[in-house]
Amino acid sequence: MTPRIHAVVLLSAFLAVTARGDEPPAARERIVLVVHGGSGVRPRSEMAPAREQEYRRVLTEALRAGHQALGHTSRSVDAVEAAIRVMEDSSLFNAGKGAVFNHDGRNELDASIMEGREKRAGAVANVTRIKNPISAARAVMERSAHVLLIGDGAERFAFAQHLREVSPVYFWTPERWEELQKALHEEQAASPAPGAAKGGETDHPFGTVGAVALDPAGNLAAGTSTGGMTNKRYGRVGDSPIIGAGTYADNSTCAVSCTGHGEVFIRNAVAHDIVARMKYGKRSLGEAAREALRALPSEPGGVGGMIALDARGNAIIEFDTEGMYRGQITESGAVTTAIYREP
Ligand code: ASP
Repeated sequence: MTPRIHAVVLLSAFLAVTARGDEPPAARERIVLVVHGGSGVRPRSEMAPAREQEYRRVLTEALRAGHQALGHTSRSVDAVEAAIRVMEDSSLFNAGKGAVFNHDGRNELDASIMEGREKRAGAVANVTRIKNPISAARAVMERSAHVLLIGDGAERFAFAQHLREVSPVYFWTPERWEELQKALHEEQAASPAPGAAKGGETDHPFGTVGAVALDPAGNLAAGTSTGGMTNKRYGRVGDSPIIGAGTYADNSTCAVSCTGHGEVFIRNAVAHDIVARMKYGKRSLGEAAREALRALPSEPGGVGGMIALDARGNAIIEFDTEGMYRGQITESGAVTTAIYREP
């Protein structure tokens, strides 16, 4: 394995109010919800100020929706679902409406959710007609005997639960279509051997969305939703719907949602790796997240990142890419958002 040199970034700058996961508890407000919109940001030089504002606006809307849900029901799982639905409904992020295209020009969506008290979990993969896959994942968790449903079966289950169906055309956006055309073009230019599909390896958008939340009873929850990777093939499923890889929650340690090159996150069971480092290695949240990210093989441009929250309201945000769409909200509703390393 190539020695990992990439700078694992602890975003102290994120935010003066981001509590580092290895800080002793201080007289400060608990962070109750953290969201991310993926670690594959467009380069800062290409980000128009108006577009950056739009990202921050949607991140803020997601945080407020989650905070409001928490206020109504006091359940972290409601905060996670509400926040992710807002990002799924925006075309800015690679999830729901803004999902990327696979090699065949289709949008295949994945999502998962987990709660940390009883460790119940639900996930869907490869769905094409469910407007909000995170709600389908939640329905699997709460209304089925299973954890992961895929494709047509997942859709039949979701619609039987009265979740909203949309035509696959709903997920078509010009920007994602252009990204696919670019990926196909680059792939062709590199003329790989026939059948040697490298789906998604041309230009990682890493725009997956995720949320981690803490409720007043100390229950943690985590959720992740994605369109996967541009130009993916063969029914490819990434880490986002895989419990332990892209998502995990355990009240005794933390809730985690990851974004990045899914295959790497699956092989390294990254979300659970953070939990295990805390549980068995007695690491702090911050140490566990940094170690887990550093342990991954490096990739040009970075492999991804994660958000995590513990039951004391300490949050950690780590990534090795140029930036990560992210935000957090405290108990009293103070919102902070950021995209690049320097806010
Ligand atoms: N992790 C996602 C996947 O591999 C991609 C992303 O984070 O944007 O499907």
